[in-house]
This record gives sequence, structure tokens and C-alpha cells, in this order.
Amino acid sequence: MKYISTRGGPQELSFLEILLAGLAPDGGLYMPKSYPQISKKTLDQWRSLSYADLAVEILQLFSDDIPLEDLKVIAHKTYTAKVYCHGRQYDNANDITPIHWLGNEFGTEIGLLSLSNGPTLAFKDMAMQLLGNLFEYVLAQQNRELNILGATSGDTGSAAEYAMRGKRGIKVFMLSPSGKMSAFQCAQMYSLQDTNIFNIVIEGVFDDAQDIVKAVSNDLNFKSAYKIGTVNSINWARVVAQVVYYFAGYLRATSSSEEKVSFCVPSGNFGNVCAGHIARMMGLPIQKLIVATNENDVLDEFFKTGHYRARKSAETFHTSSPSMDISKASNFERFVFDWLGRDGALVKQLFAQVETEGGFDYSGHPAKKMIEQFGFVSGKSTHENRLNTIQQVSRVYGVVIDTHTADGVKVAREYLEPHVKMLVLETALPVKFSETIEEALGYLPERPDAFIGIEELPQRVYEMKPEVLAIKEFIVRHTR
Ligand SMILES: *Cc1c(COP(=O)(O)O)cnc(C)c1O
Repeated sequence: MKYISTRGGPQELSFLEILLAGLAPDGGLYMPKSYPQISKKTLDQWRSLSYADLAVEILQLFSDDIPLEDLKVIAHKTYTAKVYCHGRQYDNANDITPIHWLGNEFGTEIGLLSLSNGPTLAFKDMAMQLLGNLFEYVLAQQNRELNILGATSGDTGSAAEYAMRGKRGIKVFMLSPSGKMSAFQCAQMYSLQDTNIFNIVIEGVFDDAQDIVKAVSNDLNFKSAYKIGTVNSINWARVVAQVVYYFAGYLRATSSSEEKVSFCVPSGNFGNVCAGHIARMMGLPIQKLIVATNENDVLDEFFKTGHYRARKSAETFHTSSPSMDISKASNFERFVFDWLGRDGALVKQLFAQVETEGGFDYSGHPAKKMIEQFGFVSGKSTHENRLNTIQQVSRVYGVVIDTHTADGVKVAREYLEPHVKMLVLETALPVKFSETIEEALGYLPERPDAFIGIEELPQRVYEMKPEVLAIKEFIVRHTR
């Protein structure tokens, strides 16, 4: 399998060649040159596979430069019941991503695809845990080291740290803004005592942290001298790891590969639902891919109107589903590439226009009609919708869902079709957003055993001023 850039650059690279890369040299994102096609017969053969074996089948199609035996070891080390046992307790925990059926609404079975039982209780663990093992594997093979630099306001940083802790050849420098995360989120990250993890708390807000990461990464000499890398959501390996659970969800939800299933995905940077798009392009019988947004509705606006209008920071709302608070969706370019017939020159022009004019408008264009041929529809949800949905799902089905999943359930209900099962992706567990759960239900959500008392654990952080030079010096000192 070769990978090409969405902006038409001439390079064709292999999986291992793009594993540690960020953007392509022309500023585009890497995409497979073609999509492997999965027949109904193959799908049926996959029905009996464990999650790890299913992951091997799918990943090997995209990473043919990793020997199959090695890939098997990596997948079986990653997708174990022990790694994914931290959240809700299921009888079928070996499924890794069990389905929690809620019930039948207007002739449609609606269920939660449970993706949040990994160590940080959010779906990002599904891909990040694999990334940690892939990185360790390739770094050892090439006798290299990597220093991951990132900024976080919550979920990504903790998922990265729990994936990279204790990994040989890897250090993580994670910047987080002082006093902006919940006590639970702070405890999760700051209580890690692994010597390869450095939590740097800076005065300021998330954007200050993000600016420092950009400044350090843009210093190309420093970047190469200190082997700086990232794990952000445009990383192809993260996207492809997520393709696996669309197949797993489909196979668990159906008994025949003639059936179709719809997926509703709480979305921010479009990484999660992009994986659904790829699964569908591979032939997985997906009826609809429903993009659910919160008040930050740049994607809902696009899928409804064909007008992509990135927001300014001042127009980006701080909401109670904070992991979906984005102003532009970094993986969206991957869909645009397929949607516009893989015309790299056109994609390049459109995303240059996003930088100069803030977006592009296809509302009157014939291509607008093509969006639905890719199965995409969308909807949005507000704080009040979240509260109502959390209350209603708790009352009727006895399940407490988190705020992001609530956005998904709310929007999924706008697209129910008789006899097409609907899976809503459960992207986090309620304990991570307990303030809003308490607002909705009047009590705090149940805390999984492993997390009782984590706020009392000793914390290890480095407090620093938001200064690029100081952060660079810190990295230099700790990578000797
Ligand atoms: C990251 C995240 C999302 C958004 O996922 P994208 O891949 O960025 O679209 C949704 N919910 C939760 C809980 C998340 O952590």
C-alpha cells in the first residue's frame, strides 16, 4: 500500500514511512492510494474473529511493510481485555468494543458502541494504544528515539501519555494550561510517575500552550536535533486503527452481511467519522454516517449546505462537550479529497482559500449533491439538548451517558430508519464530565473502581511560564 498527499504532491510513501510524519511536505494529509475492497464473503469470514485478529486483518491491508508476524504481536499486545477493562463492566469484555443496546425506537434498534473502556475512558485510547506499540516497534527497529511534544486541554494528552508511558525510546513533553482542566483530568495525567512522561503546566490558556508547540515545531533545526514529533489526530495510523471498530461494530450488530447499519459519531476534528468513511469506502455496508456536532457546528453547516466556513477563535464556544470544541476540522480535508474525485490541485487550492478567506462555498455547486452518496448527513446539539438527552436516556434505559455521547444520541434520533440498526459511538464515559452530569441528573456519575481516589495520588508536574525558550531549554535538559 502506498500513501499519497491530499494536495497532489508527487511522493508515494509506505506505511512505516508516514508513521512518524505529520503533514506531507506540500501541507496535505496522507491517504492510501486506493481502498482495499472487502467482499460480503470476507466479511462473513471475519464474523468469528476476536477484536485483535480482526485488527490484524484490516491493518495488514494498509501496512504491508510490517511483517505479518510482527503485526500480530503488536495487535494482540494492544487489544486485550486487560487494556480495555477500565470503564463499564461487560460480560463480553473480550469484545473490546461491546455494544450496549438501548432499545427500540420507532422500529429501529439503537445501541451504544462502547469505545471508552481504555485507560483514559475516552475513545482516543482505541487508536493511541496501538500508536504507542507501533512507535516503540519502529523506533527499536531503526535504532531511533522520539520526543513527543504536545499541548492538551484534556483527552488527547492523557490518551497519549497512557499510550507512551514506559515505552523505550520515547519521551513525552505535554503542555497543559494551569487551572483549566477538571480535577479528575489533572489527576489522571499528573499522577503518572513514569520517568519518560513530563507534564508541563503553563500559566495561560490552551492556545498559549498550542502556540508554543507550533513555535518549537517550526524551528526545523531544533526539531531535527531533538527528534521532536507529535501524535495529533491527523496521524494516519490513528485513523486506520479507528477503522477496525466500525467493522467490529457492524459485525456484532448484524447476523448477515446483507444488512446495513448506520453510525452516529460525536465529531470535532473529523478523525473518528473519517475512519467510518474509509470503512464504508472499503465496502462495509454502512447506510448513513451521521456527523454530530455541538454548538461548534462548522461541520454540520458544511454537510447541510456545502459551505465550509472555519471559525475564528473568538467564535469558538467553550461547551459542555469540550472535546468537540473546534474552529476547523483537521481531518476534514481527507473527505474533501475523496468527495472531489481525488483532485489534489483542487484540494490544495480550496485549503489555501480556507487560510486566506476562511472557507469555501459549494452550496450551489453540482458536487454538493454528491455528499449524500458518501452516506454523510449531520446534525447539531446544544447544552440544553445534552442535559435533556442525559436525563431521558437515564430515565428510560437506566444508562448514564457522557455529554459527547449525548450529542450523538440526540442527533442519531433525527435519522432513524425502520430496520436499519443505529450505533452511536460512545466516545467518553460520564465520570470525565461529572459537573454536567450532576447538572442534568442531580448526582455524580458512578466512578469505575480503578479511579476511586485518584485525586489523592501524588502528582508530578513542572510549572513553567509560557515562553518558547524556556520550554526548549527544558527539552534540551531532559533529553541528554
Ligand atoms: C476527541 C473527541 C471527540 C471528537 O473526535 P474527532 O475525531 O476529533 O472528531 C469526541 N468525543 C470525545 C470524548 C473526544 O475525546
